[in-house]
Amino acid sequence: MTSLDRLRGDVQPKNHNARTIAALTANPGCSRRAVMDAAGIDKSRLASYIGFPARFGQSQFAITRGNAFEAQLKANGCAELLRLLREALKLPIEEASYDDLESLEQMDARAARSRQLLTRAASGEEGAGTLFDHPLLRLEVGGRWVYLEPDLVALRTGGKFYVVEIKSFAVIDGQADGTKVSAAATQSAVYVLALRRLLAEAGHDPLLVSHDVVLVCPENFSNRPVATLVDVRKKLSVLERQLSRMARIDAIVESLSPDLTFDLAPDSSGVPQRPASELVDGLGQVDARYSPECLANCELAFFCRHEARGTTASLGKSVREELGGVSSVELALSLASGSASPEPDQEEAAAMLRYAAKLRAEIVS
Ligand code: SF4
Repeated sequence: MTSLDRLRGDVQPKNHNARTIAALTANPGCSRRAVMDAAGIDKSRLASYIGFPARFGQSQFAITRGNAFEAQLKANGCAELLRLLREALKLPIEEASYDDLESLEQMDARAARSRQLLTRAASGEEGAGTLFDHPLLRLEVGGRWVYLEPDLVALRTGGKFYVVEIKSFAVIDGQADGTKVSAAATQSAVYVLALRRLLAEAGHDPLLVSHDVVLVCPENFSNRPVATLVDVRKKLSVLERQLSRMARIDAIVESLSPDLTFDLAPDSSGVPQRPASELVDGLGQVDARYSPECLANCELAFFCRHEARGTTASLGKSVREELGGVSSVELALSLASGSASPEPDQEEAAAMLRYAAKLRAEIVS
């Protein structure tokens, strides 16, 4: 049994998908999340059990709308998608063939078939295919292989592969919600990376997979699609850094108590056998780095926010950086009012706080 197995206990590891892998990049400095994800611990179940259930995820309305939009684009062998790629992006797609890999039920068979078709296409064999729908890809995360079951289409044209990501959020007057575009770009980067690794394993140049992904969204609240090329190079480098950090998680795990476990094995009524207080104590042994962004990205966010209450770091990354050395809100207020004297490494932050307090007093009066 490895240390990570011991941390997870007597339950199956929680599988990742592109969304959860993408979320790993949201807070790369957090050891708690890195350990939990590397061990495959079900963070959502853990958070609920200790009384801080996660409250994020796609609404049913968004899922239904997304499915309908995707079905429209993929009908008749992706006819509408192809028209869009030809017209909007001027991609040189002359004749197109379409392979839907979802029809294979067995995961292993589907992964093997995806690999076979994609590597054949990478070799440039004649008639080797243009559009590959639902290819099953895999990626090594924390020493375990996880399958990625994307809705995506991999498009091969002009000797290059492009990841096509279909999203249901709207582009209004040429503008889309920046947070949503960024999240979609990170998810697409996961697929680009998995596709590149698949080609590299088969002896092909991984750079055959373009760092530009095609993001397809509905335009102006209609169902008319609009396509945009998004450069995901930056996302790729963050993702690769975070995944290699997870592969080197051993150093963090070794620093933890050898008895520590987050075992959620249930009793006969389906409730975890271990008391919630033990799990909370265990969480306290692994360093966290809470910031408000966690609320949209991590299932443990409400617990970590509660734990970080009163710290300046809980107010966000910019406050954490500006007030380096001043860890609590209470101390920050004392320094601002002059009722506490700063340590040498707090001088700069203290001067800024006093100035801010003076400005506030002038405005208020
Ligand atoms: S919510 Fe907690 S565990 Fe998750 S990333 Fe933030 S600090 Fe880390």
